[in-house]
Amino acid sequence: MGLISGQQYIDRINNLHPEIWIDGEQAKGKLSEHPSLNGIMKSKANLYDLQLKVEKLDKMSFKLENGERAGMAFFPPKTKEDLEKRRLAFQEWAKSTGGLLGRSPDYLNTILMTFTQAAELFKSQDPKFCENMRNLYERATREDLSFTHTFVHPQVNRGRYYFELSDDPVAAHIKEKTNDGLIIKGARLLATQGGLTDELIVFPQGGVGESCMANGFSLPANTPGLRFIARESFDYGKSNFDHPLGSRFDELDSVIVFDDVLVPWENVFFYESKQLSGQVYSQTSFFPQTVHQVVSRCIIKTEFILGTIQLMIHTINIGDYDLVQDKVADVIIALEAMKAFVLSSEIQAKPDRWGTMTPAREPLHAALCYYAKIYPTFSEIIQNLGASGLVTIPNEKDFHSPIRGDLDDYLQAANANAEDRVKIFRLAWDLSMSAFGTRQSLYEQYFFGGPLSLAKRLYAGYYRDPQIEWVKDFLSIKDIEPGS
Ligand SMILES: Cc1cc2nc3c(=O)[nH]c(=O)nc-3n(C[C@H](O)[C@H](O)[C@H](O)COP(=O)(O)OP(=O)(O)OC[C@H]3O[C@@H](n4cnc5c(N)ncnc54)[C@H](O)[C@@H]3O)c2cc1C
Repeated sequence: MGLISGQQYIDRINNLHPEIWIDGEQAKGKLSEHPSLNGIMKSKANLYDLQLKVEKLDKMSFKLENGERAGMAFFPPKTKEDLEKRRLAFQEWAKSTGGLLGRSPDYLNTILMTFTQAAELFKSQDPKFCENMRNLYERATREDLSFTHTFVHPQVNRGRYYFELSDDPVAAHIKEKTNDGLIIKGARLLATQGGLTDELIVFPQGGVGESCMANGFSLPANTPGLRFIARESFDYGKSNFDHPLGSRFDELDSVIVFDDVLVPWENVFFYESKQLSGQVYSQTSFFPQTVHQVVSRCIIKTEFILGTIQLMIHTINIGDYDLVQDKVADVIIALEAMKAFVLSSEIQAKPDRWGTMTPAREPLHAALCYYAKIYPTFSEIIQNLGASGLVTIPNEKDFHSPIRGDLDDYLQAANANAEDRVKIFRLAWDLSMSAFGTRQSLYEQYFFGGPLSLAKRLYAGYYRDPQIEWVKDFLSIKDIEPGS
């Protein structure tokens, strides 16, 4: 089959009937017609259509051995040029969503590619598990599958010394092992786009937790007993004019419940293995390959934000003020820094132990930490510059009502008519103040672990002996051993 169209994606998800709960009701019928889901499904469908465009085919996909094409995120990079190709494909997709879809399919497809390249790792428990990973990758590339994932235990008790030792833990765990597979019970966080993808990938929280929770497997989204409990949608059924972003790109986030779910052995990559739970991150290129996709997307997102801010400035003619220029300079610095991080990671790339060309981890880790800190300031900047403009935003209906004349007269701006001005400021509002916009801020801070844990890991992992030795030499100090 190879690459699918947007309609094929929609038909496939409509035929799956995964168990999604929204607003106290199970979503029934065609999900693409559900008021909370149709916007995001349409946006995802556009991504699939984009990669099928004849003029984009070579940029967005590569040829499989059987001659069919698969999305570029599945492409295992062997050279630095391959990394660049991957980046350009990520960014092409990101451009059609303003970089606002954190979980465009290339995110999980990259993760699947990376784990598959290192599939030998899973042989240590059972050679079949290595094959299971490879089979999933092969099926995913041939059928252009999309995935959601869960890597985190529920937020019950994050106390330093808390371990979930109960006989019936909240966190998803093996309840039973049978001839057919594992029976999983409990909950996990947090499937963004839960139920809107073909399958779910479950991996442990980096070696943390009891061995009954140390499992890696995949499941079709409609597996019996698998339940996605979605948050309230931020697509409030408003028009693209009223909620330009929420109406298109709200990905939903779901708690996943495993209600005695059978995971067939063919879907298992490892189980009850604390060792593999750690190795799956430490011995694979999961981190650099995934963050390479993330940073590529964030560059496009920053460009989208910069464009929006500059349009606001032009509309109400505030570009002459020092404060305004200073704030825009901050966004430009962020944009250029992110571009530099990703290029640096590609220039310093090296093959990993599995032969996959791997972007350098350090610049990408620094980018992730930096963006988690800087992103919330973009919202502040928009609010600083927009001021009352962010709340003088009548909606589409107002523009089609008897007060239209008032709006045209009194909401006109130096360089835009009333309607265009409101369009621009509604976009700025949806980026920075709406439920959709604030969730974006939360997402960029937390989707990969949170600013503090990212910084802690950078501190722990960054090799800096040469710098210490240099300063010691400079001061003629011999006795201090670098510690923690
Ligand atoms: C919008 C959004 C989308 C997401 N999508 C996905 C997804 O698709 N798939 C997925 O698997 N995950 C997803 N996540 C989950 C994400 O991986 C977690 O939010 C992240 O790992 C942080 O974990 P937590 O939310 O449980 O926060 P917690 O770990 O509970 O942290 C809460 C606070 O406590 C502090 N804290 C907790 N433990 C410690 C500690 N040991 N030391 C110091 N401080 C501590 C933290 O710094 C933080 O301030 C998503 C998150 C968000 C917000």
